[in-house]
Amino acid sequence: MVKQVDYDIAVVGAGPAGSSAAYSAARTGLKVALIEKEQTVSQTVRTSGVTWIDSIHEFGIPSDCYNPIQNYSFCSPNNEATISDREPRAAVLDVRKTYRWLAGLAQKEGAELFTNTTVIGAQRDQYGILLKAASAGEETYVKARLVVDASGFQTVVAKSLGLVSQWKRFGAGAEFEAQVENVDRHTWWLMVGQEYSPAGYAWIFPTGEKTVRIGVGIGKPESQVDPTERLKELIEKRKGPIARLGKITPIEFHYGLIPNDGLRRKTVYDNLILAGDTAGQANPLVLEGIRYAIRFGRLAGQIASDAAIGDRLDEKSLARYEESWRKAVESKINSAARVQARWIGLDDKQWDEEIDIIKELNADEFLDFIKADFGLSSIIKMAAHHPKVAVRQLFNIVKGAAKRN
Ligand SMILES: Cc1cc2nc3c(=O)[nH]c(=O)nc-3n(C[C@H](O)[C@H](O)[C@H](O)COP(=O)(O)OP(=O)(O)OC[C@H]3O[C@@H](n4cnc5c(N)ncnc54)[C@H](O)[C@@H]3O)c2cc1C
Repeated sequence: MVKQVDYDIAVVGAGPAGSSAAYSAARTGLKVALIEKEQTVSQTVRTSGVTWIDSIHEFGIPSDCYNPIQNYSFCSPNNEATISDREPRAAVLDVRKTYRWLAGLAQKEGAELFTNTTVIGAQRDQYGILLKAASAGEETYVKARLVVDASGFQTVVAKSLGLVSQWKRFGAGAEFEAQVENVDRHTWWLMVGQEYSPAGYAWIFPTGEKTVRIGVGIGKPESQVDPTERLKELIEKRKGPIARLGKITPIEFHYGLIPNDGLRRKTVYDNLILAGDTAGQANPLVLEGIRYAIRFGRLAGQIASDAAIGDRLDEKSLARYEESWRKAVESKINSAARVQARWIGLDDKQWDEEIDIIKELNADEFLDFIKADFGLSSIIKMAAHHPKVAVRQLFNIVKGAAKRN
């Protein structure tokens, strides 16, 4: 049976970007569909879920959705550093709970959630965009005046319309959520060097008293190494801080891809907005994108609904979306990409030295750095006045300054 339904706004993908877009669009009273291919929201987890407490407060995420982190540990083959803070300013999300909470907010505002519904094509029509979807053996057509493509890495709508091509540079990550014997639930570990990841890093992110996520991320096409194989090897060999976890009993396996191709995509077209991973909105230093997905998903939903209410759905009327998010993060993301380029090229000995530099940062400096939250004035201050030469050099790279101290 072929069904057809009409909406003002259709959001494709009930990840953090899509649910957030549907939430802010539905608040205006428009007819909003949120379309998700999985049987339940976040049936599959494809992320490690680290984010920041200030973002959690900004979005109103409930306190039972995360484990707070206040100590940031790093190790390279022959070096180790821990930066301890006075209070937690990072967090590891309960991903399912958080993503379902976000989708629930959208539903409370009136968005209709269609799970088990896979968008398989899109074409333009007089009304706006016609989506073709498959749901439990049935073909469904969704007509929308405007679509928010929040389908993540795959970007199904924009690709189907021939507007974007596949990301060429991306991170591939594999992770076990596991029960362990020993863990400090407020301390994360980032592990760098060839043996952990030839182009990226490995991690231990605690989620509770006796549970952690142990993972490996590897940059493509820089390395051909399979992150799942590397993860299994690291656990088998009990490398570095993994040894301190004692007995490890895997509970669930996670795997995902994240774009790492810079901000090269245009994110507005007639009747279409891209948000979250479809737009490449991620901090390239550690490849975290959840907070951007929520923030810019909400912005996309707001601007989409303003456009629909004003009946001005052309690219020019939607340009405010692209201008706003670029103004907020473009220069920070570009600065972080410079540091990522440096990190990708480091050998083990250089990583040992890099950890010495990271040790020199206090908690405020470290958090601004890892979050890519560098305002120009703080970069200039660090690059010019930090008491350690090595830190000044690192921040000169962030600043993009050619001159060395
Ligand atoms: C291994 C790994 C670890 C990561 N760790 C972190 C981290 O610690 N912190 C952080 O902030 N970020 C992290 N990220 C990045 C983060 O997960 C993403 O930036 C974020 O999930 C982007 O949200 P999104 O809503 O744009 O996309 P997604 O979360 O990918 O959501 C897209 C949704 O669309 C649905 N969908 C896809 N295709 C279709 C279709 N055809 N029809 C209908 N629905 C469809 C999917 O099922 C999914 O629910 C990590 C990424 C990876 C791969």
